[in-house]
Amino acid sequence: MKKIRESARDLKIVRECDVLVVGAGPAGIGAAVTAARAGADTVLIERYGHLGGMATGGLVILLPHMSSGGQRQEIMGNCQEWVDRLDRIGGAVHPSRRELGSSDPAVIEKWRHYFSFVVNDRVRQSVYLDPELLKCVLNDMVEEAGVNLYLHSWGCRALTEGNRVIGVAFESKEGRQAILGRVTIDTTGDGDIIASSGAGYEGSMDSELRSAQLALVFRLGNVDFRAFCAFQDSNPDKWEETKKKIFALGKFRLAPFPTNRNDVMWVNNWVPGRSCLSVEDLTWTEVNVRKIMREVRDILAAETPGFEKGFILDTASQLGTRGSRRLKGMYRYTMNDVKNGTEFDDAIALLPSLRKTDENLFQIPYRTLVPQNVEGLLAAGRCFSSDGPANNLTNLIPHCVAFGEAAGLGAVLANEAGVSVRDVDVQALQRRLTAQGAVLPDRVKAAKALA
Ligand SMILES: Cc1cc2nc3c(=O)[nH]c(=O)nc-3n(C[C@H](O)[C@H](O)[C@H](O)COP(=O)(O)OP(=O)(O)OC[C@H]3O[C@@H](n4cnc5c(N)ncnc54)[C@H](O)[C@@H]3O)c2cc1C
Repeated sequence: MKKIRESARDLKIVRECDVLVVGAGPAGIGAAVTAARAGADTVLIERYGHLGGMATGGLVILLPHMSSGGQRQEIMGNCQEWVDRLDRIGGAVHPSRRELGSSDPAVIEKWRHYFSFVVNDRVRQSVYLDPELLKCVLNDMVEEAGVNLYLHSWGCRALTEGNRVIGVAFESKEGRQAILGRVTIDTTGDGDIIASSGAGYEGSMDSELRSAQLALVFRLGNVDFRAFCAFQDSNPDKWEETKKKIFALGKFRLAPFPTNRNDVMWVNNWVPGRSCLSVEDLTWTEVNVRKIMREVRDILAAETPGFEKGFILDTASQLGTRGSRRLKGMYRYTMNDVKNGTEFDDAIALLPSLRKTDENLFQIPYRTLVPQNVEGLLAAGRCFSSDGPANNLTNLIPHCVAFGEAAGLGAVLANEAGVSVRDVDVQALQRRLTAQGAVLPDRVKAAKALA
């Protein structure tokens, strides 16, 4: 391959801060808002013009499994604040608190067509949200917290001194510049900063896993979700036939799901065999899902009640990437931990499973956010330290917000104590997470009560 050498240049340092967060998806919002509220001078860099990552630009509009089927809701904190704020402006649909854990047939009937709302005949807290309203809500949260926001700014690489990350170089219309942070948090989803930091990462993913598949999500407007549900119930075989025709179009799965409105549905899809780190594959997916999308609409309109007058409302402005680089952290969360429900003294999140078969709640340790050998860096969101199959089950939006909150506070505590992010007082971290609404394992709480 031919190569050309770029000349070295000095970068303008446009800002120095306590906590530098790169990537404003679910994890980045959790990290930046939490750090700023805790008093840190915080910068958030995002490559696009809006906040929310997959949850807004990716049109991934479902916050699933925030509770595990009982009356208690395990995922609270920042993610619940999204929901509370959306509720105030009519931007979310979800069961009421009183309905959580219910097995009442009338309540089940109300929610059973909403994916992930009823699991094992119990109602869970899951939320369909309006992505445009969420962009506004996240702007408000970031602004009110006092985060210094840089949109249209693409974090390019970690700036390092020895084994310490001291900030990032980023590109924008103003050219290449630098921001320095006492702690940098990689919340790019794809681990873009980890990749150049010297902290190791793993990237391989079993191609069968959900996380290995790309998507270009789109929405159909002027549909009737209730009419579609009635059709699915009364004509399951006919619906199966239509689904087969749709899958045959591109040889990958596409499926319509509800939204927060009866007249809009989102079409999720799973494109196998393409990497979200390959420009060629990203381009292929953008072009080819759009080709199929028009035929999907036509087949649905011709064959499926509820879609007769449907039109393509929009496509996601961000390509759907479910799994990518993952940090080599002080602890690697694995499928064994999933199976055994491993308990951790440094648990920073308690996650309900998305599978019917897991009885345990998953505890995620703080050490999965901390690199093995590099200082001044944390990673949160889907790039946390984990094996592929475990990551596949623990990288949902509510999970990533929770990891972000822990990373944001971890960075603040490290700075306050003048210690490495790996030496943070974990009990203090857990206390502060709990104080801001996070639900942590009972064992952690009991240990603290004894202390
Ligand atoms: C099609 C699809 C369907 C899914 N379905 C669901 C679902 O129903 N419910 C659910 O909870 N989860 C679902 N997921 C998974 C979930 O959306 C992601 O795992 C989650 O959003 C990850 O959050 P994150 O903050 O780690 O990363 P992301 O959401 O990817 O956010 C990363 C952010 O960083 C920005 N960024 C990236 N690189 C850079 C850079 N170099 N410089 C600056 N900014 C950068 C991005 O623009 C983005 O804003 C789905 C994912 C996909 C793709």
